[in-house]
Amino acid sequence: MTSYLKRCIELIKMFLSAKTTATLTRRDNMTNFRRVSPKCPKCSGNQTYDILPQLPNELEDEIYLEELFYNGVSIGNTTYHCRTCNYTWKKYKGRKPYRDIKRIYCGIGGYPGPYYNVEINVDKRQVKHKTSLPEVNDIKIVGNLVTDKEIQWLLSQLYKCDLLNWAEEYFKPVLDGTSWNVRIEYSSYCEIKTGSNFFPEKWDEFTEAVSKISSGDFG
Ligand SMILES: [Zn+2]
Repeated sequence: MTSYLKRCIELIKMFLSAKTTATLTRRDNMTNFRRVSPKCPKCSGNQTYDILPQLPNELEDEIYLEELFYNGVSIGNTTYHCRTCNYTWKKYKGRKPYRDIKRIYCGIGGYPGPYYNVEINVDKRQVKHKTSLPEVNDIKIVGNLVTDKEIQWLLSQLYKCDLLNWAEEYFKPVLDGTSWNVRIEYSSYCEIKTGSNFFPEKWDEFTEAVSKISSGDFG
């Protein structure tokens, strides 16, 4: 509970600072950046920032922060914008980055369970599905091998869900709700996306694909 409240306060602070950034950007006198965002791929400029989809393009005094926050927020790694040349882009483009994925781990659940975890080893074509009910100490693991065609189908579903361009964190303040995480591993780095009671746009399509490839419940 304490960590939950701490997280709420932390997110409100991040959200406020993002809002300030957006406001200053409109006035074109931004001096501080909220976070380090990548170089612009068009002009190589460093004056770039994250766009938060939940921030409406409205005048400062028309933005109701509390209302936005309680409707859910997502932070980081969504869409970037360059102030120098006005270019807007996403971190990953096209299907190619999906071919570099080595492993995917994902989990979802809420107290008191069940919790579902799925591990997909793209290289070895292995899929592991775990269902756990910690309250009664019940864990069930089922592993299976899938075909190359099935893996290709999965990757194309993930592309349709725009998985790699999901934000780093999705959050809505609800007590005892559902938490989820996705870890995407490449050969030398990984990316983690997490959420609590708030989900990316194509979340249902994602859980359907994971459920199908693992032949188990997910979501
Ligand atoms: Zn630029």
